[in-house]
Amino acid sequence: MESPGRASASTAGDLTQQLIDTSYWSDEMLAAAGIPVYDVPLVSVGGGMGSFAVVDLLRLSGVPTSSLRILSGIDVPYETYSYLARNSQIPDHERLRSDSASVMDNIWGWPSYALREAFGARTPAEFAAPLFQVATEPVLTDYYTPRAVQVYRSVDREMARIGYHFMVAKGQARMVRRRYGGGYFSILTPPTGTSPTRRVAFRSLHVHVAVGYPGLKFLPDLQAYLQKHNDYRHVVNAYSPHDHVYEELTRRGGTVLVRGAGIVASRVLQRLMEDVERHGARTQILHLFRTYQSGTQGPNRFMQRKAADGVAYQGFNWPKAAWGGQLRDRLEAGSDEERAKLLKIMGGTTTPKRKLWQQEIATARQKGYYRQFVGQVEDMAPGADGSVVTRVKASDGSLLEVPARFVIDCTGLEADLTEHRLLNDLLTHGGAGYNVLKRLDVSPDFELRGTRSEPGRMYASGSITLGAYYAGVDSFLGLQYAALRIVDDLAGAGFCPKIGVGRSLSQWWRWARNRPVS
Ligand SMILES: Cc1cc2nc3c(=O)[nH]c(=O)nc-3n(C[C@H](O)[C@H](O)[C@H](O)COP(=O)(O)OP(=O)(O)OC[C@H]3O[C@@H](n4cnc5c(N)ncnc54)[C@H](O)[C@@H]3O)c2cc1C
Repeated sequence: MESPGRASASTAGDLTQQLIDTSYWSDEMLAAAGIPVYDVPLVSVGGGMGSFAVVDLLRLSGVPTSSLRILSGIDVPYETYSYLARNSQIPDHERLRSDSASVMDNIWGWPSYALREAFGARTPAEFAAPLFQVATEPVLTDYYTPRAVQVYRSVDREMARIGYHFMVAKGQARMVRRRYGGGYFSILTPPTGTSPTRRVAFRSLHVHVAVGYPGLKFLPDLQAYLQKHNDYRHVVNAYSPHDHVYEELTRRGGTVLVRGAGIVASRVLQRLMEDVERHGARTQILHLFRTYQSGTQGPNRFMQRKAADGVAYQGFNWPKAAWGGQLRDRLEAGSDEERAKLLKIMGGTTTPKRKLWQQEIATARQKGYYRQFVGQVEDMAPGADGSVVTRVKASDGSLLEVPARFVIDCTGLEADLTEHRLLNDLLTHGGAGYNVLKRLDVSPDFELRGTRSEPGRMYASGSITLGAYYAGVDSFLGLQYAALRIVDDLAGAGFCPKIGVGRSLSQWWRWARNRPVS
C-alpha cells in the first residue's frame, strides 16, 4: 500500500462498467480505470456529528491524523445539523432537545453544558439559573437543554484540538466496495476543479459510515400534490428552508395548516405564535392531527408517558434508560422480535412538555387564533387566491375542506435507505442487510453485518442503524455511545490502543486546558 496522500498514475479516472458491476475490487481494476488510490488505515464517510464522534475518540486513543480520513462535502461537522435545525425553527440562540451531559466535544460528559453555561455567566442570576434547573429537572423545572450555539462552539474548539481539518477529504462519497486481499475501497468524487480525475479512491483497512438521514420524505398525499402542481411555495417541509411562510404571514396575515405532533411541530407553532404576539401577525393556525393523543400511554405503570392536547409528552426522543440503563440492556439482550416490540413501545412521535409551549398554546387558544382538528387527509388541491385546500376525513366519516395559504409538514418522515446512493450500493454490492426496522443491520458493536473484508471491518452509526441493538442512535449521546463501541471493537482488533484510566485522565486534563491531542 502507498502512503496516504500519494496518488497512483491515472488515465481516465472514472468508474468503469466493470467496477460498477463487480462487488469485490482488486487493486489492478482501479489501476486499469485510472482512478488514483490513496492509502489510509481508516475512513469515515459523512463528516457530520457521527463521524466527528468516532474520529474524536480515535484521536483521544492516540491514532494520528495521518491514519484517518473523513470523506465529506461539509466543512464543519455540525453544518448539516445546523442547517436542519435553523430550518425547523431552532435558531442558534434556541435550546435543543438533548440533556446537559450530551456534550459532543467531550467523551467524559463533564463539565456538562449546564455547568459551562453557569461559568460563562455575567450575573449571579445567570450563574444560578442553569444550575438550579439541572438540579431540579424535571420535577420543579423543565429539563435543562443547551443552546444550539453552545454545541457548535464546543465542537469548533474540539475540532481544532484534534486537527479535524487535516483529516477531511472534500467531496461526495459514491460507494464503498470490498477489496480482494482485505479492506475496502471508498470512492470519492472531489469538487469540480480540485482533482485531475473525476474520482479518487481511498484504500483502507476499516470504514465507518455516518451519512445521516438517507433523505427527507413528504407524506404520500403531500408528495402527490407537489408532483402534480409543482407548488413548493405553499406546501413546505419543516426541514427545508421556508422562512417566506413566516415573513408572508407576518406581512399579510392568513391561515396556515400545521401537520405533525412531534417536537418540530412544537417549534413551528412556537414561531407562528411568537410572530402573532410579538410582531402582530394576523395568522390563523390550524393544527391537524392524524391521531389525537390523550390520557396515559404505555403497556404498564413502569413504562408510561402522559399525553394531552393531542400530543404525547417525553423529555427526549427515547426514555432516558434507553441510552445507558436497563432499557439499553433489554434491547441488546432481546431477540429481533422483542427488540421490534420494545422499540415500538418506547418510540413514536413525542414532544417535551415545556412550560413556554403550553403557555403559548393556551394564550393562542384563548385568543382564538389556534385551532386543532383530527382526521385523515384524503387529498389536496389548489384553491382560490393561491390557497391550498386539504380534504380531511373526520372520524365520523364526514368530509371537511380546509383552505389555507400555507401547509407546513412537520411529520419528519425519513426516506428509504435505497434512496441514498451509497447505502443502496452497500445493500446491493457491499453485503449489508436490513434490521427489523428496515435500516442497516449492525452488531452491538455497530459493525455492519455481512460487510466484513478480513481483516477489515465496516461500521455504521446514526439514524441509518435504528432498529438494531441501541435505540438512541440518532442523538449526540447515541453517536458517542456508538463511537465508544466502535473504537473498543477496533482496539480489540489491534487497530488502536484501548483508552485506559491513565490515558483517559491525561486526555481529560489536556481537554480542560485546551491543549492539542497528543
Ligand atoms: C432538527 C434536528 C434537531 C436535532 N436535535 C437534537 C438534539 O437536540 N439532541 C440530540 O442529541 N440530537 C438531535 N438531533 C439528532 C442528531 O443528533 C443529529 O441529526 C445529528 O446531526 C446526526 O449526526 P449524523 O452524523 O448521523 O448526521 P449528520 O450530522 O447529518 O451528518 C451526516 C453527513 O453526511 C453527509 N453525507 C451523506 N451522504 C454522503 C456521501 N455520499 N458522501 C459524503 N457525505 C455524505 C451529509 O451531507 C451530512 O453532512 C437532531 C436532529 C435534527 C434533524
